[in-house]
Parts: sequence; C-alpha cells; structure tokens
Amino acid sequence: MNQIPAWTAAEGAERARTAYRAAFGAEPAGVWAAPGRVNLIGEHTDYNGGLCLPIALAHRTYVALSPVATSDVTLTSQQESDVWTQPLADIGPGRVDGWPGYAAGVSWALAQDGHELGGYRAAVDSCVPYGAGLSSSAALESAFAVAVDEVFGLGLGADHEGRRTLIAACIRAENEVAGANTGGMDQSAALLSRDGTALLLDMRDGSLTHIPFDLAADGLALLVIDTRAPHQLVDGQYGQRRATCEAAAARLGVPTLREVTNLPAALAQLEDVVLPDGTAVAADVVRRRVRHVVTEIGRVEEFVGLLTAGRVREVGAAMDASHASLRDDYEVSCAELDVAVEAARAAGAHGARMTGGGFGGSAIALVEADQVASVSEAVRTAFAERGWTEPGFLAATGDGAASRVDEGE
Ligand code: ADP
Ligand code: MG
Repeated sequence: MNQIPAWTAAEGAERARTAYRAAFGAEPAGVWAAPGRVNLIGEHTDYNGGLCLPIALAHRTYVALSPVATSDVTLTSQQESDVWTQPLADIGPGRVDGWPGYAAGVSWALAQDGHELGGYRAAVDSCVPYGAGLSSSAALESAFAVAVDEVFGLGLGADHEGRRTLIAACIRAENEVAGANTGGMDQSAALLSRDGTALLLDMRDGSLTHIPFDLAADGLALLVIDTRAPHQLVDGQYGQRRATCEAAAARLGVPTLREVTNLPAALAQLEDVVLPDGTAVAADVVRRRVRHVVTEIGRVEEFVGLLTAGRVREVGAAMDASHASLRDDYEVSCAELDVAVEAARAAGAHGARMTGGGFGGSAIALVEADQVASVSEAVRTAFAERGWTEPGFLAATGDGAASRVDEGE
C-alpha cells in the first residue's frame, strides 16, 4: 500500500541539514519546519466570509538556512533539481519563476512591511506531497517565514500578533510572487495550529479558536486519501465559483454570503447572472452555489458543536452532507474523489468527504483506529478496479505550528 509517512522532527532536520551540507559545504545556522494541513470541513467558504476548520499535519517541510554576508538568496530543494540564486533586491512580483517564488517571496513581503533582511542560503526537504490539496505551498512559505524571522531577529514568530504578520507575508508571497490563488486558511493553519486541536477560522473577522481534536483518545483516526487525480480546469472553475458567489451576494445586497440568514428567502430572490468574464450562469445554478456555501457554513458550526461536546463519531454525517453538497450543488468533485469517499464509507468509515478546492486532490475519512488498514485497502481496490493510479494514504492528527526543530540537538 502506498503509505506516506510523516518524518519525525529529528529525521526531517537531519535530512534538511544533509541537503544543506551537500549544496553549500557548511553547517546551517538552524533548521525550521512548517506543517501541511487538511481541512476537516468548511470548503469554498473562505472567500464568502465563512468558517473553516483545518488541522496541521505531522507532515512537514524542513528548511536548513543560514544568513550570508552578501544580499544574495540561494535556494535548493530535494524536491526540485536546480539551485536558484538571485539578489534580494531583484525578488518581487513577476520576477521569480517557479518554486522559489513561494520561499523567497516571503522575504520580499516582509521587506515590503519595512523589516530589514539580508541574504541567505537554504536547503529544503519535505514529506508533504505536492498538489494533493495538503498545502505543501503554505508549508514551504511558513517554514521560510519562521526561519528568516529568527535569523534576522525580527521577533515576529514569538507571539500571536507577530505570527499574523508572518501569515500575511506568506499570503502575499503566494498570491503576488508565486502568482497562485490562496485565501489564507493554509498559512493560518501552518503558523497558528496547536497540538491536539483543530483551528476554527472565521474569515469574516479573522478570529480563530482552537477546538479540541484528539482522535486517538477516542480510538479514531482521520485517514487522508491522496487520489492522485490530475487537476483539470481548476483555475477557471475556481474563479467562476468565486465570481458567482460575489454576484449572488451583490444581488442579495449583502457584503458576502456569510450574511445570508434566511436561505429560502435568499434563494427565491436569486436570478440569472452574467459574470465579469461574460459567462452566463442560470438562476438554478446560482441558487445551488449559494445553497452550498450557506449550508456548509452551518455544517462547520454543527461539526464544532459535536467536537466540543465530545460526540466525535457523530461528525460523520456532516462530512457526508458536505461531500454531497460539494458534488451536487457546488460541482467541484470528480470521479476519483467520489469513488474514494464511497469506498471508504462502504468499508466502515463514519463519514467521508473531499477536502480542498476539488477537481482532484485528497479526500478524508473518519474511521475507527483499528480499521485504517481495511478502509485503505478498500479504497485501493476500488481504484485498481478502475485502472486508476494508486492513491496515497496518510494519517492526520492535529499537530503543532511552524517552529525551529533543531534546538538542543
Ligand atoms: P499544494 O499546496 O496543494 O501542495 P500547490 O500547487 O499550491 O499545491 O503548491 C505546490 C507547489 O509548491 C509546487 O509545485 C512547488 O512549486 C512548491 N513547493 C511545495 N513544496 C515544495 C518543496 N518541498 N520544494 C520546492 N517547492 C515546493
Ligand atoms: Mg497550495
């Protein structure tokens, strides 16, 4: 079976340090790491001022880094082939191609905030799979954020408010330098999660609450299934969903769909819309998109209520309903996600759903701890029967935030 294990902090630190030595022939000043994340529930709610509930994974991206006397930034990654170097002053939007944009972009964003940084060199290694919807991009940004914060003495990583500044820098790096779409959930999870908790994020006011999430104590496990399905049409579809929600909110006279309090009344008011790109969306479709967003926000509240009350097994129903809503009303699922979810449920999962933006990526299933192997095997078989690429499997726990990982060694 295709298991994707999480490295221990010591193992990850040693790998990054070894990569650094091989590339630069010296010891790094330190090693820092940041987690990938998986969203428990609350999908396509972030840009509607809604709620989501990510947990940090034990799977982390490790960065061994040292400041240098010049203003050059030199980067290498075990997941990429090239060594990249560019003066700090030349880093910015439209000036960095490929993966270094996520990493070096954070330094650019912090410099934009008035922080003084120098040059550095760094080596990356990671056990967070790419493009699986587990946010390897935010893990990379956040690991660099805490690393440069410490070596240049910015002091932002030390407290909550400072970490919010780091989150904003990571978001700018991804949106403006790497040129990818991100709403901020991933970076918040990477920089503010706490061990044994899920992070309830309210995108209306930016507030966050740590919700107890200790599945092992209840004899449960969260199985993440990386479908390996090729993403298709993701960018255009994401933009259209977002634009449809914005058009619907405008029609309803509210700033975001979070403010919809009477769903039946709102649905009755909706009509055909034409998006800024000229796409016509029929009233029936607009209504289904709005119904997903509003009911999904309600499901996050329900999920959190059950977790807080210790009724953990009962969250399965909300997961199932979330998947149906994403598949039928929001239409962002795909055959691989549907099959993963159905096979997991048929093999005994309490609930299962796609997670992340959709059209590929990962699904999650809540399972009894002693059924992880049998549920995984059922999903693997269902994929094999269809001739699909074998999925990857990993266990998610609810881990801690980005930090230095080599202290005291
Ligand atoms: P996801 O965040 O869901 O994994 P993205 O497409 O947002 O998928 O981010 C993946 C991209 O982030 C990669 O294509 C690469 O550019 C960059 N990236 C992530 N992890 C690493 C890494 N360990 N080394 C180099 N680049 C990385
Ligand atoms: Mg990403």
